[in-house]
Amino acid sequence: TTREWQALDRAHYLHPFTDHQALGEEGSRVITRAEGVYIHDSEGRRLLDGMAGLWCVNLGYGRRELAEVAAEQLRELPYYNSFFKTTHPPAVRLAEKLCALAPDHVNRVFFTGSGSEANDTALRMVRHYWALKGKPRKQVVIARDNAYHGSTVAGMSLGGMAPMQGQGGPGVPGIVHVPQPYWFGEGRERTPAAFGRECAAALEAKILELGEENVAAFIAEPVQGAGGAIIPPDSYWPEVRAVLARYDILLVVDEVICGFGRLGEWFGSQHYGLQPDLMPIAKGLSSGYLPIGGVLVSDRVAETLIEAGGEFFHGFTYSGHPVCAAVALKNLELLEAEGVVERVRDDLGPYLAERWTRLATHPLVGEARSLGLIGALELVADKASGRRFDKALAVGNLCRDLSLEAGLVMRSVGDTLIISPPLVITRDQIDELVTRARRALDEAARRLTA
Ligand code: PLP
Repeated sequence: TTREWQALDRAHYLHPFTDHQALGEEGSRVITRAEGVYIHDSEGRRLLDGMAGLWCVNLGYGRRELAEVAAEQLRELPYYNSFFKTTHPPAVRLAEKLCALAPDHVNRVFFTGSGSEANDTALRMVRHYWALKGKPRKQVVIARDNAYHGSTVAGMSLGGMAPMQGQGGPGVPGIVHVPQPYWFGEGRERTPAAFGRECAAALEAKILELGEENVAAFIAEPVQGAGGAIIPPDSYWPEVRAVLARYDILLVVDEVICGFGRLGEWFGSQHYGLQPDLMPIAKGLSSGYLPIGGVLVSDRVAETLIEAGGEFFHGFTYSGHPVCAAVALKNLELLEAEGVVERVRDDLGPYLAERWTRLATHPLVGEARSLGLIGALELVADKASGRRFDKALAVGNLCRDLSLEAGLVMRSVGDTLIISPPLVITRDQIDELVTRARRALDEAARRLTA
């Protein structure tokens, strides 16, 4: 029964990112199965998963083709590695496919087990690259405030989330942070264009302060996900590109959320016309069906690593795991064959934008934004002035909980509500998502004024 699952859960399971005391009497919701864009709980409730799990189930739930390919690969070769002069077909095929989908200057991939490991790999790789180039002082990596790059020590250090950095001891040295292009939260006195330029100028100022000869790389997500679905002003990325080129600093674009169709291109970098030196990937790579990540490596970096000779002493037991690789390849083939990425760009993304931005008229909403199939609502206490709530977290969580009651999974980050549904969602299901979000907002408004 649900009660029994919850009791066992409480007794033995330490959950990620969870205040166990706040679970209260109710306990955790027990998810038992899923299909398409819906998840089902042990009480028989069906919820529209507006978050695609953790921004990862791009192809939707319940795809038999992925289950079958996994079973086949488990029978054929359940495990082998590619250390020490061995390789195997699933990893090779997946590498080839990824490089065919990636921008032209990217022709190699290093596999990992997760997005955090992908960012750890990128951090070590950029530092190693500059050492091989005879510039061993170029070691500092610049990241952004409020970014999320994972939960390993390196991932946490690259991330810019103060609560994370306040726990678990010191992070990796040589990482500094610059402002995020979060116009609604931090730049509203300026135009979005001016604010985007200002953030890029802050990056340049940081490079000059550190000395360009000390700066290895800049890492950022195309659209910041966990930080609050932060879509940068149009002026931001072109200016950042120019700054990095001026000082010969590598660009690491964390594609863990934006990759595999989220923004309507195979990679978020392509939406913004970026030419990254490294692209950490994970999540949508296998639509979350099995854990796999990697770093797409540009010719510039790969050729330096290879031509220098010697080993890069780095790798994971599960790098290129055959079963995960076989499932990821099938996932990419299905996304491609079904035209999912193009549909997000040409149809579903614009459709969501039109419907979602209508929520901006709601009394609790200061801004409603979306790009491709990622979106956010900014909650405000006073619509006229745009004043935020004093208890942002509580209001965000209230809306999130009311949205669950209305049958929709949304996520709250402070007083920002986020959606990132499976990319196979239909127009009708987008309507359903928006209707349920509105119902949650209406109920929240009623309770806040009661
Ligand atoms: N990078 C980004 C942008 C992410 O959103 C995440 C996870 O949410 C990660 C990295 C870490 O990936 P993982 O949880 O697979 O380690």
